[in-house]
Amino acid sequence: MGEKVKKIIKTLKIDVDKCNGCRACEVICSAFHATPKYSSNNPARSRIRIIRDPFRDIYVPVYAGEYTPAECAGRDKYLIDGKEYDECSFCRAACPSRPEFKEPDSGLPLKCDMCEGEDEPLCVKWCLVDALTYEEREEEVDEAAVADEMEADLEALIDKFGVEKLGSTFARLAQKR
Ligand code: SF4
Ligand code: SF4
Repeated sequence: MGEKVKKIIKTLKIDVDKCNGCRACEVICSAFHATPKYSSNNPARSRIRIIRDPFRDIYVPVYAGEYTPAECAGRDKYLIDGKEYDECSFCRAACPSRPEFKEPDSGLPLKCDMCEGEDEPLCVKWCLVDALTYEEREEEVDEAAVADEMEADLEALIDKFGVEKLGSTFARLAQKR
């Protein structure tokens, strides 16, 4: 067994029944991640997107998770409280089969960083109807597994974009810190 390390697991709890599709969360997320911060807002840069279908009263906030290099071979439909949700409605992946969670200029995948540096995620603060709740818990995980996960993520990105493009993007992001 490898060394155990403590890891803080951060999550957003989402109540789809409360979401009214106002998109305030998309606005503040994209503004927070603009360069310079708050200089613009563009939902295409947001790490949270609302899957909207007003005619069916469907509003699903989804925040960006991992990048995946290939789309799923099989998909599921969800029927909840009489509403049928599309196959990808609840998926958090930055995936080749849909436009969400891709940086508009570079095409690089976007991932929620829980508004690093803020005391609480801004989408949670800006959601006036409490459809989003921030939760934190501590877990013990294998140190090697954390390193493997990071390496696999980086390898997938290198495969897709190449070392050079990835390097220049890292350098640009580092300047913002
Ligand atoms: S701010 Fe809240 S209510 Fe508005 S779209 Fe986002 S999650 Fe839904
Ligand atoms: S927690 Fe921050 S980075 Fe993540 S979706 Fe919400 S506003 Fe965007």
